[in-house]
Amino acid sequence: MYDCVIIGAGSSGLTAAIYLLRSNLKVAIVEESMPGGQVANTAHIENYPGFESIDGVDLATKMYMQATNLGVEYFGEKALSIDKEGNIFKVALSDQTLEAKTVIVASGMKHRKLGLENEEAFSGRGISWCAICDGSLYKGKDVAVVGGGNSAVEESIYLSGLVNKVYVIHRRNEFRAEKKISEKLRSLPNVEIIFNDEISKLNGKDSLENITLKSGRELNVDCLFEYVGFLPNSELVTKYNVTDESGFIVVDENQETSVKGLFASGDVVVKTIRQIVTAVSEGAVAALHAAKYCR
Ligand code: NAP
Repeated sequence: MYDCVIIGAGSSGLTAAIYLLRSNLKVAIVEESMPGGQVANTAHIENYPGFESIDGVDLATKMYMQATNLGVEYFGEKALSIDKEGNIFKVALSDQTLEAKTVIVASGMKHRKLGLENEEAFSGRGISWCAICDGSLYKGKDVAVVGGGNSAVEESIYLSGLVNKVYVIHRRNEFRAEKKISEKLRSLPNVEIIFNDEISKLNGKDSLENITLKSGRELNVDCLFEYVGFLPNSELVTKYNVTDESGFIVVDENQETSVKGLFASGDVVVKTIRQIVTAVSEGAVAALHAAKYCR
């Protein structure tokens, strides 16, 4: 029996694990993808205190190693369901069930898609949701980025250092992203910003070759990087009626849901600010209250 099973090994889940383990509790973490969550997919981080600049994968690795060295039991697979029987939670994996006194859902978000024809077919063949994973495949080529938030702007800056030219397509005439990075993007010579336009068609045979914009303009690009926001990974708790109309999990100031012993933290919860520092702080709050609940 675990004191806590954490769903998700992003910055919030790993922080929760570190706090619980330091309280001498027995902790499992279940992660279907690689550890680090969105942090690991970010090129450079410049707003995490203590590091003026750090590569996302380095920060994610440090958090993961800290939790691992403290003795977290790591399950690199998908959690299939969370059931509560009496006071015990049962987290089903493919070939076993983990029992726990508490669960912290720190499952983050998944990329929102544009919903265009060919988007799925070209996934991995000219459409990507991860510049740091796929950017180097397009060295010296022309690529496009769609979106106007922090992710789109940061990853466009990263890509501009690798590729020949980056087109940034945003549906409004100003970025949602922070001013400082938006200005940096505007200053880059191999970046062309296209405001007030959207993508209407993705063209190509076996892979993406060309994009048609609503304005009628055509862009010959080898890859489109989509950064048009995220959707919550909250399917595991839908049945508990703890989500808002958009699917984000509602928690109180202790990061606890209306189900006793079921906590949530990080990007998957209802909130307005999604930053690494908020994710880690919520992970700590959830962990300390989960520890109190266990006792
Ligand atoms: P976001 O802030 O939700 O921005 C999504 C962008 O995509 C917006 O500019 C939006 O346009 C655009 N968009 C949405 N649907 C679209 C569609 N169908 N077609 C075209 N454009 C569309 O998402 P994000 O940039 O991924 O950031 C997510 C969260 O993480 C935010 O809270 C962000 O601050 C945070 N984050 C922070 C950092 C950092 O601090 N360094 C880095 C990355 C992410 P509109 O602007 O017109 O709505």
